[in-house]
Amino acid sequence: MTDREVRSSRDASEVKRAWGGSGGLKPGKGTGRSPLGPDKTRVAEPSPWRQNKRWLGGLEFVSMEAVLVESASSSVGADVSRFEAEVHAETARRPDFRIRFAVRSPVAAPAAAGDAWLAALLLPAMFAGEDLEVRLPVSARLTRTANEIQALMHSWYPDFLNRITVRTPRVLPRALPPQERGAVAVFFSGGVDSWYSLLRNREEVTHLLTVKGFDVPSADQELWPEIVRTHERIAVELGKTLVTIETDLRDHVDPSHGCFQKPFAADFWGKAMHGAGMAAVGLLLQHQFSRVIVPASWQYARLQPWGSHPVLDALWSNGQVEFWHDGAEASRLEKIRSLAGSQTALRHLRVCPSDRPGRYNCGVCEKCRRTMLTLRLFGVLDQARSFDQPLDFRAVELMPVARYLYPLYREILAEARARGEADVARLVRILIGDKFSARRRWHFCRQRAGALADRAARKIGLPRWKRSLLKRLPARWRPASGKADGGG
Ligand SMILES: [Zn+2]
Repeated sequence: MTDREVRSSRDASEVKRAWGGSGGLKPGKGTGRSPLGPDKTRVAEPSPWRQNKRWLGGLEFVSMEAVLVESASSSVGADVSRFEAEVHAETARRPDFRIRFAVRSPVAAPAAAGDAWLAALLLPAMFAGEDLEVRLPVSARLTRTANEIQALMHSWYPDFLNRITVRTPRVLPRALPPQERGAVAVFFSGGVDSWYSLLRNREEVTHLLTVKGFDVPSADQELWPEIVRTHERIAVELGKTLVTIETDLRDHVDPSHGCFQKPFAADFWGKAMHGAGMAAVGLLLQHQFSRVIVPASWQYARLQPWGSHPVLDALWSNGQVEFWHDGAEASRLEKIRSLAGSQTALRHLRVCPSDRPGRYNCGVCEKCRRTMLTLRLFGVLDQARSFDQPLDFRAVELMPVARYLYPLYREILAEARARGEADVARLVRILIGDKFSARRRWHFCRQRAGALADRAARKIGLPRWKRSLLKRLPARWRPASGKADGGG
């Protein structure tokens, strides 16, 4: 039996004991089997699993009571640099897994090799309610600020992010020297926020960072090549260098996807994790960049607890690389106004949250249409050629709009009134319920009838009835297949 097999069999038996069958953790509760005593000091005897562990190739690891990352390694090739860590789940109901980052650029492994894994695993560990140990070298600054990050996130989400103990036995002795005259990167998805931050920092920015595995699913095969081609064109046009990163981090640590510890019904990635994911990428690249710009999701006036936030993002800085949350002073309308002056931005803008293959901008989702309405106000919609569908006012009139997006529509309404665009103003008033539309009301009544029919068919429990009933309904009568998407 190989060492790996020994480990796996031990894991399997421990996992079985730990979970005691089908029981799961409740949000806000740990397993109660932490190796730390009540006073959070280390208990002398490690678990039998740990006593028998052999480190692979002398590499050390990040470990968490619920999840152990046994080894972290990196390899640098001419075109691609790979960083990965093997994770052993002691208490999670899942086998071992690896978290991978592949950077399309030759990148030297950072001295503070543990920083990125600390960023990647801190919030999942808090969610699991389990302590985190990072035995790879960690920068002194991040060691301190990890506690601040915990305090901040716990204050925002006391019900599902627990305070935990983070142990970092190998803290780098001195503060890391800041990169002098280092390159400056901006996270670039091609959306309004990214374009705004890129254009306003155009002189300073040297690199664009585009990630597959965050918004674009890691398994995507069709949209990603199109995004890479487009971003390469943008980089050439603006004289920047594109660095693409592919990772399966979100696949492993986003409990909203039901793939890490207990499932979580809300948007964990958006609410808590995506800023930490970007920080992990930036920390892996800390030898390359002195500053990494994180485009703001929300305007200062509308700040709320969110995974990327002006207070939070800066805390991921480790002394060598600084994270700058950029662009929170501008509303979304102001950002679109600023990019309306760039032909490159108009040609390549990508706002669509839909990841349907081949659809760069579907042109029919709420976010696409809201952006197109704003571009129309500024008279540049015809130059924005990246939308698949023309703006259809009659279709927009029937579009559901989530209430939390109303402030964004009110900005559009104010601009439409100021510009004398009566048809846009009328449409927006209908969308936010300021103006009655019999057509819209009738549409939602029919949709509701369809939803009731669907519910009744399910309750009756006769799939044949349900199928035949629902299939006879016109498509527009059937219940909408998802909530209005969007965000700032
Ligand atoms: Zn869309």
